[in-house]
Amino acid sequence: MWFSCKTSFDSVPNRVKLMIKVMAFVALVLYLTLVLCQNVSGYQDLKLSDSFRRVANTVDVKHDFRIKTNIKPKDELKIRSAATSATPKPPTIELNDIFISVKTTKSNHNNRLDLILNTWHQLAKEQTWFFTDDDDKVYQDKTGGHLINTNCSNGHFRRALCCKMSVELDMFLESSKKWFCHFDDDNYVNVPRLVSLLNEYSPTMEWYLGKPSVASPLEIHLEYKKRKVSEPRVKFWFATGGAGFCISRSLALRMMPIAGGGKFISIGDRIRFPDDVTMGFVIEHLLSVPLTVVDQFHSHLEPMEYIGSDTFQNQVSFSYGKNQNDWNVINIDGFDKLSDPTRYRSLHCHLFPQQCKR
Ligand code: UDP
Ligand code: MN
Repeated sequence: MWFSCKTSFDSVPNRVKLMIKVMAFVALVLYLTLVLCQNVSGYQDLKLSDSFRRVANTVDVKHDFRIKTNIKPKDELKIRSAATSATPKPPTIELNDIFISVKTTKSNHNNRLDLILNTWHQLAKEQTWFFTDDDDKVYQDKTGGHLINTNCSNGHFRRALCCKMSVELDMFLESSKKWFCHFDDDNYVNVPRLVSLLNEYSPTMEWYLGKPSVASPLEIHLEYKKRKVSEPRVKFWFATGGAGFCISRSLALRMMPIAGGGKFISIGDRIRFPDDVTMGFVIEHLLSVPLTVVDQFHSHLEPMEYIGSDTFQNQVSFSYGKNQNDWNVINIDGFDKLSDPTRYRSLHCHLFPQQCKR
């Protein structure tokens, strides 16, 4: 066989033989050059996209941070979030991707809603919805038709509050928004900061962002009513409703079969705790998604005066409280305390001078 091949190659004219040899040599040289170039220059022809470079940098930075610092349990949660969001970055979140819901009640319309409508609401008119317990033509107009009568009772008691939260959640689920953010009607929402916060997390992952107002997780024990036996005690964190909290769409979708369509109220009935605790129970206990603590949410359960004015820009929400004649409010220059007892008008002017109404 070899002989016959040799014989047939021998029969090829010398000119053609030479050409074949030259072509084989050129091919070998080209191949060797390519291999050499790739090893030296590190595949420079393969350009990393900008977003891929950003992700790569993020991973490095977080990794260093993890090694160098002494991570406390609370920080571990934040790092979990940072590291997870370092997977290929989702498209940027816009204000329009957020469903902002504000819980209110008829008797608060006059004394709380105007302040919101004249301040932070100006920056999120289309994205904000108010959940109340009665019809009100005046505020229906003032909110641009964004006042929802939940038909829930109008008392500050557990079942009424859970009822409103249930309607808020269901309306978010019916929307196509990526984030659900709940606030009380005594919160000031720093709208651009809320957007920039949510940009750090992917709505396609399960996120429960907020701040607890207690130092340790809540511990409750459940009882099967009929059998009168206690389940083992359960421990979970919950984000204080009065500071505001946000839930990603992905998490809300997993909540839907157990807490959607009004079932949130039944869960509240079962554990006999208010709306924000029920939310923590559903998310942390039933779905095993941990609360990610975001320190920039504030309720009036904490002293407002300790929030430094140089950090106002960075805070997501503020609150105010009044105990007899004592106001728990942020410390800020601006309007006098008589015309701006909650300090929200002064805060709004401080954050958005171009919007300032004197
Ligand atoms: N709220 C309500 N129904 C009521 C009383 C209050 O829905 O009968 C709402 C109120 O609008 C606010 C939240 O519950 O958004 C908390 O109420 P408030 O600030 O008066 O009391 P807190 O619980 O903060 O002490
Ligand atoms: Mn309050």
